[in-house]
Amino acid sequence: MTTAIEYLSPTPLTGVEGSRGIHWIKHEEGDRIWLILDKGDTSTNTLDEPVLRELNDLLDEVEQGDWKSVIFRSAKRGGFAAGADLNQFRGVSTVAEVRAKIDEANAVIDRIAALKQTTVAAVHGACVGGGLELALACDFIVARDDASLGFPEVLVGLHPGLGGTARLTHRINPVEAMKLMLTGRSVRAGKAKKLGIVEAVVPERNMANAIEAALSGKLERSGGGATATAMNLFPARKAIAAQMRGETEKQAPSEHYESPYALISLWEKHGGSMEEMLQAERASFAHLLPTDTTQNLVRVFFLRQRLQQNGKGSSNVRNVHVVGAGTMGAEIGAWCALKGMNVTIQDPSREALGKAVASAHKLFDRKLRDPELLRAKDRFTPDLHGNGVRHADLIIEAAPERPELKEKIYAQIEEKAKPDAVIATNTSSLDLNKLFKGVKRPDRFVGIHFFNPVSKLDLVEVVRHDGSSTEAFETAQRFVGDIGKLPLPVTASPGFLVNRALMPYLGEALVMVDEGVQCERIDKAAEEFGMPMGPIELADQVGLDICLAVAESLARDLDHPMPEIPQWLRDKVERGELGRKTGKGVYDYGSDGKPKKDKLKKPATEEMRKRMILPLLDAVASAIDEGVVEDRDSADAAMIFGTGFAPFLGGPIHYAQSRGFEAVATTMERLEREVGPRYKPSPWWRKAKE
Ligand code: NAD
Repeated sequence: MTTAIEYLSPTPLTGVEGSRGIHWIKHEEGDRIWLILDKGDTSTNTLDEPVLRELNDLLDEVEQGDWKSVIFRSAKRGGFAAGADLNQFRGVSTVAEVRAKIDEANAVIDRIAALKQTTVAAVHGACVGGGLELALACDFIVARDDASLGFPEVLVGLHPGLGGTARLTHRINPVEAMKLMLTGRSVRAGKAKKLGIVEAVVPERNMANAIEAALSGKLERSGGGATATAMNLFPARKAIAAQMRGETEKQAPSEHYESPYALISLWEKHGGSMEEMLQAERASFAHLLPTDTTQNLVRVFFLRQRLQQNGKGSSNVRNVHVVGAGTMGAEIGAWCALKGMNVTIQDPSREALGKAVASAHKLFDRKLRDPELLRAKDRFTPDLHGNGVRHADLIIEAAPERPELKEKIYAQIEEKAKPDAVIATNTSSLDLNKLFKGVKRPDRFVGIHFFNPVSKLDLVEVVRHDGSSTEAFETAQRFVGDIGKLPLPVTASPGFLVNRALMPYLGEALVMVDEGVQCERIDKAAEEFGMPMGPIELADQVGLDICLAVAESLARDLDHPMPEIPQWLRDKVERGELGRKTGKGVYDYGSDGKPKKDKLKKPATEEMRKRMILPLLDAVASAIDEGVVEDRDSADAAMIFGTGFAPFLGGPIHYAQSRGFEAVATTMERLEREVGPRYKPSPWWRKAKE
């Protein structure tokens, strides 16, 4: 007979006795009943309608039975439950439709909260979203030490919808609860205990004891205490809510993102009564789900998964050698070490190597704790003479954008590298087919194009040139997956996808500067559209030298006319005013690395936005038309994860679709007449199906 303790095993269940439904296992043990979630046909538990319906039937039995306690657990290795299944949120169109479903789901969770038995959720791994809401409906939550708990709903334009907003703000200090829900971050078990979300944190071997303690009344129920109660009173709520709105506005402007503000209002208006808040939460959730913003953010969630698929499987890359420890090389090397690779980083400049080590340590300090921190530092080795090349499975060249220099570097690498090592360039603008012409074994060369800043932008373009082998290309994609980034396969065409789309947008902004438009106003126009930073600030961030090189190469290599490169840009590069990295670019930079901006003299206009955004959309369309990128979903994903293109719009092509492809083409034709031939629309708009 299988005992309940065996269900606690972190290994998957095999040959389990007890009564197994499709998604739940029921196990009776004296006066206890275990309800073990083991969602059918998947390795991860999520809560969807079938899972909750089966639970509802089990609760009929529980309510009628004589058991004294109910214990919820998961049979999956990865965790308790990863929240709701987002698939069920796609394409819903009416508030009434959502309301009916959310009411039905809440009725099940409310039944758990109302059970006469003592209820315990024994959680491990991921216990987030709906999973955490189920746990919060129990009397006790006992967490295994690897558990992470949180509410990520805000990241897809929602807030918790199964009672989580009400139960969490009444279980712990409501300000902490709101912070957790507003950021969408998860906390580890130890922090969850400090906050009062869980009553105990123990290793697996002590889970049974902790459950026992909860059931025998030896575990004290957590709660926010007197401070929490005071904060849930209306005057405090009103003042705190105003503060939260101000803070949230900086991260997610209310004109683009509704859900954090809906959450704040929910607590402000109804935080005084759990019952009222439970009801209001449902109405608010049902209102949010069908909105365009939420549907687009759910779309972005699936676009990320789509790119992740490209990097599936291990690359077997362990040792990475980076050539060039400048802006990009230093960040690429540090990121690889952070993610567990052994990194050697080569540069003829001792100063560059010193800076690279310092900034890598800063990144590790920010992201890791001992002992991982020390290990990451050990994995990152400056290498003045390039000795690491011999041991490397992958070599990434991130030297200055000069073909003759890069070619020399490849010759040196080829002499020393292992025969099966993959060799990659991070070039933004050079033609790979020309760059690799002189190498001995072009088959193992590819492009691996990271974006700046590497730690913030998840996209990496993996570039195939005419001579790359499928093996090298696949290894490169998997390597990108191994380091937690999102690989986008592209062909070796000018600017690949992202810079080809970004440059006409940046170029147009620079032309406007030439026309006498205030830089701050240009940036504001793009920010109001939903870009994370304006094009002028972005040009400074990337480096004006890099922008100039990319703009020149695109003007030379693409058939489509590009915005004229202003003389002042060439002059600035000549003078060494290269942007943020030199403390001066278009803007001046303070020691905090932030641009010094003047107040707006005039508001930004819709026409300015059109002039900048339409060329970006058009360049994406022409790249799809030419097969640079596989399809429009990949292109949308790339622009969101490579440039921060307004995620709530669902990507450039998705956005264009909402405006109508014909309307995009006609507006471009108007601008072609009024501004110049560079606005001639791609034929794709009128060929593509909407
Ligand atoms: P950078 O000028 O900041 O750094 C280049 C580094 O290479 C310097 O530290 C320099 O000392 C070193 N170097 C010079 N000669 C070398 C040699 N023979 N061997 C090894 N190292 C040598 O340049 P960056 O901005 O990091 O750009 C590097 C590459 O990455 C370029 O190909 C660029 O197109 C590409 N890139 C840049 C960005 C960006 O935003 N800056 C983004 C994506 C790709």
